[in-house]
Amino acid sequence: MLRKVLPTSSAVKVARKCVFRNASTAAPIRPRICIVGAGPAGFYTAQYILKHLDNSDIDIVEKLPVPFGLVRFGVAPDHPEVKNVINTFTKTAENPRVRFLGNLCLGKDFTLEELRERYHAVLLTYGAEQDNTLNIPNENLQNVLSAREFVAWYNGLPGFENLNPDLSGKSLTLLGQGNVAVDVARIVLSSVDDLKKTDITEYALETLSRSRIDTVHLVGRRGPLQAAFTIKELREMLKLSSCTTRWRGDDFDHVEESIPNLPRPRKRITELMVKSLAEQAPNNVPPAGRCFQPIFFRSPVNFVGSGKVEAVEYVVNRLADGRAVPTEQRETIATDLVCRSIGYRAVSVDNHINFDARKGCVNNAGGRVLKRNLTGSDQTIDDIEDKYEAGLYASGWLATGPTGVILTTMNNSFGVADLVCRDFNSNTIRLNGSRPGLELAGRPYVSWNGWKAIDSEEVRLGQAQGKPREKLTRIETMLQIASNASD
Ligand code: FAD
Ligand code: NAP
Repeated sequence: MLRKVLPTSSAVKVARKCVFRNASTAAPIRPRICIVGAGPAGFYTAQYILKHLDNSDIDIVEKLPVPFGLVRFGVAPDHPEVKNVINTFTKTAENPRVRFLGNLCLGKDFTLEELRERYHAVLLTYGAEQDNTLNIPNENLQNVLSAREFVAWYNGLPGFENLNPDLSGKSLTLLGQGNVAVDVARIVLSSVDDLKKTDITEYALETLSRSRIDTVHLVGRRGPLQAAFTIKELREMLKLSSCTTRWRGDDFDHVEESIPNLPRPRKRITELMVKSLAEQAPNNVPPAGRCFQPIFFRSPVNFVGSGKVEAVEYVVNRLADGRAVPTEQRETIATDLVCRSIGYRAVSVDNHINFDARKGCVNNAGGRVLKRNLTGSDQTIDDIEDKYEAGLYASGWLATGPTGVILTTMNNSFGVADLVCRDFNSNTIRLNGSRPGLELAGRPYVSWNGWKAIDSEEVRLGQAQGKPREKLTRIETMLQIASNASD
């Protein structure tokens, strides 16, 4: 529901490890914790704290009316099995000691100082929502996008529904070879018949059905031995119906002979690439159907075109100690659309966050946020109170930087949550009075029941089209539906 202040659970449980009591009344003080961001990091930290700090109450505050972060807005629509984590997150959210407060944004609707006054502990888990730029000439040409925008568009992130990428040309270039780039390649090269059974947005499906793109270049600055994509994602590309993968033979000089000495995961993916290269048709045979072409050892140095991008100019790299080193050689490859896919980055949303703008993450040590004049490299101060912001933590991509799958985020978040529990139990976080939680009066927020109403409506809209759901993309519509939900 929307606009109503919900009571917290009245069930008082006794903490497994220790009970904190208010000196004057002798009533136990319940640790009150705020988690900012309802993505995997937020839900996993909540899950762990619920289990290990029995008498705690948790508010999960989320800027969007809907939960799940990149599980909803990042994970590719044709990977529904990855989204099963939502079932676990839902169990956490439905625990009576948890409140989901959607449509409330740190840095806009409330400040970090306000949270720290109103909770015993605050966990920042708001992810990494920007993308890195190349900072090369003509990056602002028309048809140069980021993969982040493209993904947000097909996945229905509010604000991206009108991106309308121009798929009228023949070729798309993806700069970067991580799994995000491969996701975009697969979505563009897949048949619309396969995609229409997924939760991809209807407008994206419609645009993709008119796409004329038949070639996707996946360009990396280093070699096949350093490719950032993983074997499962490569296998999917190799098996994609009506699509041929074309490697450039020159990129694989000396690769085969290095295979025996590679660590196992790298060995398996390299063997797969080498096998696929050996099996591919000669270059003079045109590919059947669409074509996926990985290109290695190329760094973009310039976008060519007037108004609209027409080509990318690359410097040819060689490797030195695993690093890409530019040579004198250049290559220009024509293209109609470019998506930069060179990683995400977090931003500071509140001036009181000790933020490392260069790395794009909160300055923290194992999840404890460092005091403002300290950075992750300041390891010399032993006294916890001198070193860390009391009761302030960060986990997930905001704390680690934007790498790792959901499982990596889970492990990181469980570790940070364990610190939180230990800090409560060791009295490092002092329970010197109860805390009121966020002031909700006058703040139109979406409760878990509000989300469930949005969820039901999306599932209903999807059923009509044979899809698992049709995502709503307008915030006003979501708020309207949530406001009609009963508590
Ligand atoms: P997020 O998932 O980004 O969650 C952060 C949350 O904080 C969001 O809900 C956001 O709306 C909210 N928020 C942001 N700012 C504020 C604010 N100011 N106030 C309140 N709330 C705020 N991993 C896999 O295992 N499998 C995959 O298939 C996979 N696919 C991916 C596809 C893409 C395109 C991307 C980018 C990543 C993918 N990952 C995948 C990685 C996975 O998504 C991340 O590991 C994980 O989502 C990181 O979790 P997080 O909670 O740190 O951040
Ligand atoms: P990523 O895996 O870190 O890949 C980034 C790519 O960009 C790399 O190829 C990197 O090359 C390149 N790059 C970075 N800076 C560059 C520059 N200045 N110039 C040229 N190239 C540059 O990041 P991602 O693809 O955004 O994925 C983020 C995380 O989410 C990853 O851990 C990924 O596995 C995960 N994810 C998983 C899935 C899945 O499981 N299906 C799907 C999507 C995302 P170098 O290697 O040379 O730095």
